[in-house]
Amino acid sequence: MLNHNHFDIIVIGSGPGGASLAQRLAPTGKHILMLERGDYLPRSQKNWDAQHVFAENAYQAKETWFDQNGKSFTPGLHYFVGGNSKVYGAALLRLRERDFEALQHEDGISPEWPVKYDVFEPYYAEAEKLFHVHGQAGEDSTEPPRSGEFPYPPVSHEPKIAELSERLIEAGLHPFHLPLGILLDEKNGKPTPTSTCIRCDAFDGFPCLLNGKADAQVLCVDPLLAKYPNFFLLTNAYVSRLNTDPSGRRVSEVEVQIEGDTQFFTADIVVVACGALSSALLLQRSANEKHPNGLANGSDQLGRNYMRHNQSVLMALMREPNETVFQKTLALSDFYFGGDPDYPYPLGLVQMCAATHAAQIRGEALPEWLEWLPNLPFATMARHSMDFWLSSEDLPLPQNRIRYQDGRVVLELTETNAEAHRRLRKKMEQAMQHAGAHPILLDRKLYFSQDIPLAGTAHQAGTMRFGADPATSVLDINCKAHELDNLYVADASFFPSIGAVNPTLTIIANALRVADHIKQRLGDNAVA
Ligand SMILES: Cc1cc2nc3c(=O)[nH]c(=O)nc-3n(C[C@H](O)[C@H](O)[C@H](O)COP(=O)(O)OP(=O)(O)OC[C@H]3O[C@@H](n4cnc5c(N)ncnc54)[C@H](O)[C@@H]3O)c2cc1C
Ligand code: SF4
Repeated sequence: MLNHNHFDIIVIGSGPGGASLAQRLAPTGKHILMLERGDYLPRSQKNWDAQHVFAENAYQAKETWFDQNGKSFTPGLHYFVGGNSKVYGAALLRLRERDFEALQHEDGISPEWPVKYDVFEPYYAEAEKLFHVHGQAGEDSTEPPRSGEFPYPPVSHEPKIAELSERLIEAGLHPFHLPLGILLDEKNGKPTPTSTCIRCDAFDGFPCLLNGKADAQVLCVDPLLAKYPNFFLLTNAYVSRLNTDPSGRRVSEVEVQIEGDTQFFTADIVVVACGALSSALLLQRSANEKHPNGLANGSDQLGRNYMRHNQSVLMALMREPNETVFQKTLALSDFYFGGDPDYPYPLGLVQMCAATHAAQIRGEALPEWLEWLPNLPFATMARHSMDFWLSSEDLPLPQNRIRYQDGRVVLELTETNAEAHRRLRKKMEQAMQHAGAHPILLDRKLYFSQDIPLAGTAHQAGTMRFGADPATSVLDINCKAHELDNLYVADASFFPSIGAVNPTLTIIANALRVADHIKQRLGDNAVA
């Protein structure tokens, strides 16, 4: 129970962004309040039930949003302590060095970042430590320079994946051990008796029943609550507005809905980390006389330049049964910056996902599958499947935006770089034929939500890009709002471009960077 309502720092959102920032700031002794709209995700055996998690979408937020044509959809959001990392796949990769530069794609230019890889590198290294990243340096053909090894050894391949790796190498490719955030100790490919993670078949998309996945609750929020009396968490606390002082330069009050009541909290510094889409919505809801188009929106960029990757989850049907339990251990970046002589543009990244469960296939059963495979029972298909997640970069178009219209949330999206994604898929089909798969890869949809692309908000980024120029960006290079003196953002809103790797390690690294800036500003030299 809180006995006061003023804090040094308020952090809104307990996902990887907000939680990493709090983790870095708590040792300063400053009083930090974290406000989280969700509760703890229930720990139940059903967390490992594919029917419950994917087909019934048990943990997905019950939100209804609309596209630009008024069609409704349910975004892939999860409101819990730990945010979306409770259900994420924990593939934690660094952006490539060239991702920080302007990059030509078929449909336009992926913009340059105002802060480059050399500044992010030490923070990536710390983020990998904080989130227990297992990996092997030197294997990934587009890996950026590293100041050291991964903090933990790579998660070992099971025999079928080791075989796949060999086949891909024979085909001239460079498969690598996928960097994973996981609390796993293994010996000879088996978890040790004291390992938190047991290498089960529910890695990826499932909340972990054993707290073996490196998520923000397990690695940041819970340890903070245990160790720091200056850190406070309020759950089921929905921030409805940020109010400013009369000058419009400072957030003076954080308005919170708790159990049907409106409460107000104040802080010297307010950090928004609600996820790129929800953060933009919060600032839009906070419009006032001084900020008529939304807080910090003099540039008209708030909510715009949204990105989320072009992504598909594909299932290869193998001639031989695939008895792999923990499948998500391999990735390929050979096509990241290209690969087709007649197509000089980046294609994207390939990584494996968790093994398919029969309930997922049943939930996803699509007409074209039934045409192809009329007699194969779901369980047999699942036993013969190998599963891949493909991601390609999409571009931050200004018209791709989130906004309110007549009280409804509207998400507008025009797809870009679809051809690059199609070619990446073709490349993977060719590679998998070499590895003994059926020549066509089948689409799987439930992993990120039924209705990719719009509902596929898992990798949301870019709604408040950072930059030096207040006319074209919402945040400055320290992720402070240009127009306010005490408002920071610590989720993926700041991304000027998204690259093709999963975003979370970059969110964490940046949150640590922003925390260091705040620490300096508060004049505290405490070591994190
Ligand atoms: C199925 C799935 C798989 C994924 N796999 C990967 C992966 O393998 N690798 C990877 O890098 N990324 C992955 N991601 C993406 C990853 O989960 C996100 O990048 C990451 O969680 C973003 O962190 P965040 O802190 O910015 O936001 P979030 O994790 O979204 O956290 C934001 C928090 O803010 C809270 N909040 C929102 N609005 C308010 C409000 N108004 N008041 C109070 N609290 C609020 C939310 O409840 C939430 O807890 C995956 C996502 C999903 C859904
Ligand atoms: S593989 Fe490990 S981390 Fe993943 S759900 Fe199973 S026990 Fe948890």
